[in-house]
This record gives sequence, structure tokens and C-alpha cells, in this order.
Amino acid sequence: MNQFLSRRTFILIPTMSILKIIFKPMQVLASSLSSKEEWNLSKDEWKSRLSPESFYILREEGTERAFSSELNNEKRKGVFHCAGCDLPLFLSDKKFDSGTGWPSFWDSIQGSVETKVDFKLIVPRTEYHCSRCGGHQGHVFNDGPLPTGKRYCNNGLALRFVPD
Ligand SMILES: [Zn+2]
Repeated sequence: MNQFLSRRTFILIPTMSILKIIFKPMQVLASSLSSKEEWNLSKDEWKSRLSPESFYILREEGTERAFSSELNNEKRKGVFHCAGCDLPLFLSDKKFDSGTGWPSFWDSIQGSVETKVDFKLIVPRTEYHCSRCGGHQGHVFNDGPLPTGKRYCNNGLALRFVPD
């Protein structure tokens, strides 16, 4: 009996350490916490920086009403920045009219967004957020135009447009 227990403990301890190593970085990605310390703000700090609507989207993974954002029809040349930390996320030449009622892009600026899978609507969807502040932007689908075939479906309230 003792021998069985000690053998089990012997196996359990290294297994737990391995799981800890695997799950620690995943926990960081699963929340909207930023990996950059200067952007790891408290809920109250974010509330004071953002409008209530933008706070709901960026920090609570909300979704704005379709066709409610002026950026949906924005056709000028320029750059779409994260409304949370101002990191440039999308270029206007990657924007297209998806007909969904949300600003849509077929590519993001390299390294500007990170993804995770969410199950909010039961069917798994790929959520993406700003790689600097962790603010939720939207969901990315595989039914976009070429060359990427991606459709980044973005909340307008999570973006700030800077015309060229
Ligand atoms: Zn950001």
C-alpha cells in the first residue's frame, strides 16, 4: 500500500509541475489582462480612461449593435488604432465591406493582435484582442476575401481612426 502511494506521488508531482508550466501562459491569454506591465490597469483605471460603451467592449468583451459605428462606412486612407492604448491595429487598405454592419478587415498589422478561442455562443469562435493592452476587439472568421481569406470583424468603438 505504502509502495503504491509513494509511486503515485512520484508520478503526480512531476505531472503537476508540467501542467503548471503549460497552463500559466494560457491563463494570461484567457483573460483580457495585458502582458505589458504598464498596460495592466485596474478596472477603475480603465473606466476612467474609456467611455462606458468602449469599456464594455474592450474590457468586458461586449459587442456593439450592427451598423451602429460610423467607422463601418469609413473609406478614407488611414490607420485604425486600438481605442484602449492607441496601438495601430489595421490599415485602411485592408478594410472591406463585409455587409455585416461591423468594420471588417482581411488582415491586421503584423503582431498587433492576439487570438483566443471563446465559447460564448456555444460554437467556438476565435476572439482577438490588442497585443499590447489586451483590449477585446472582435472575432476573426475564415470567410474573408483573398489573399488571406480572413475576416476580422471589429467593434468600431474599440478603434480610433487616424486619417493619413
Ligand atoms: Zn490596446
